[in-house]
Amino acid sequence: MSVTVRFAPSPTGRLHVGNIRTALLNWLFARKSNGAFLLRLDDTDIQRSTLEYADGIRRDLEWLGLFWSREERQSDRTDRYVAAAELLKESGRLYACYESEDELDRKRKRQLARGLPPIYDRAGLKLTDADRAALEAEGRTPHWRFRLNNSDTADLAPLPTIVSWNDLIRGDQTVDVGSLSDPVVIRADGSFLYTFTSVIDDAELGITHVIRGEDHVTNTGVQIELFDALGKEPPAFGHHSLLIGADGHALSKRLGALSIESLREDGLEPMALASYTALIGTSDAIEPYASLDDLARHFAFEKISTGPARFDPVELKALNARLLHNTPFEEVSERLGALGVGGDAGFWNAVRGNLNVLADAKDWWQIIDGDIAPSIEDGDLTSKAAALLPAEPWDDTTWDAWIAALKTASGRKGRALFHPLRLALTGREDGPELKALLPLIGYAKAEARLLGREA
Ligand code: GLU
Repeated sequence: MSVTVRFAPSPTGRLHVGNIRTALLNWLFARKSNGAFLLRLDDTDIQRSTLEYADGIRRDLEWLGLFWSREERQSDRTDRYVAAAELLKESGRLYACYESEDELDRKRKRQLARGLPPIYDRAGLKLTDADRAALEAEGRTPHWRFRLNNSDTADLAPLPTIVSWNDLIRGDQTVDVGSLSDPVVIRADGSFLYTFTSVIDDAELGITHVIRGEDHVTNTGVQIELFDALGKEPPAFGHHSLLIGADGHALSKRLGALSIESLREDGLEPMALASYTALIGTSDAIEPYASLDDLARHFAFEKISTGPARFDPVELKALNARLLHNTPFEEVSERLGALGVGGDAGFWNAVRGNLNVLADAKDWWQIIDGDIAPSIEDGDLTSKAAALLPAEPWDDTTWDAWIAALKTASGRKGRALFHPLRLALTGREDGPELKALLPLIGYAKAEARLLGREA
């Protein structure tokens, strides 16, 4: 069967770097396997899901180039969940429960006080038809739990029951479903919970591999039981580790500040973000890759570490700069134009090594094309330099000839020679090689600047 994976965000917020890592690992694996990548919007929480967030998710994925071949929204699939629930009710795997939140809370507290694990006591499973009718006559509506396959005794007490799978990333995994409560899969208002809907979707959409964060490992134990109860073959599962910050602490609480939207607004290149999030927590070196296809060629589950992946915004910014330093002009010319930067490949090649983000090119274009305030540190040297400027046309030998003449005429060398020149020509303390900048600045501006005039 050909590989089919899905990325299943809930449209209850914008995507952050943690989500994107999951999306990328799925996308890269699909690409490497010539498989399909689906977008599934887990929008069963109708209070918190919005169309704006769904649009934002699509925009973020598109910006990164993570295109999908099919989109599904869980809110469109309720009839499938109802049908599957009916089947499980018939086979006795879904059962009605009537406790309120408060009652459940009191039960848990009593269990804890007696030193027992706070597992649901399956009271719902012990109700007779008459009990149910009486509860409903009181005005109660049931919620529904999925009965885990973990007991074979009349008292329904759960026994240790191991569900195992060979995880694509973590190797052999086990979950003791005997230590879990039967999960609620349908709320009293009739809405379905993720644990259930996800399984129906994965089964019906032909998902072959589920790649997601390790916070879902326990869910996987339950979900394998659900696949089984529905008579479906479970997909393969791979659980990647979660992100930690540069300080070694979990990033989960700080992820909001690391939205894809804000990183894009900070001027990050999509391939810097993609390279970084795909490579942290793997055995591959963190390098700026030029395309997702290049990244996909290097993808392998064996390379993904089970230890946490360290996300450091400073490292990400440095990777962004490295990516720009290697980017050819053709790939950015349109965006430079949109930024009002008129330079050609000569300009780009001269300045790209000094950019942190693409928009920094604007400053260098202004220095080359616009006017700068005079900045004369050593008037004697710079007026000599102005007088010695060779006549145009200039080429790549001009700089060496000019500097040789200026060294002889001034007796200066090193910083005493170059710093005043840089300051006068660019108004900056540092920047791209002057040799590359001088021909771009041109005779007229260079002469005026060396003479301390605004130009
Ligand atoms: N909506 C779920 C989440 O964002 C999907 C988890 C899964 O991949 O199954 O956590």
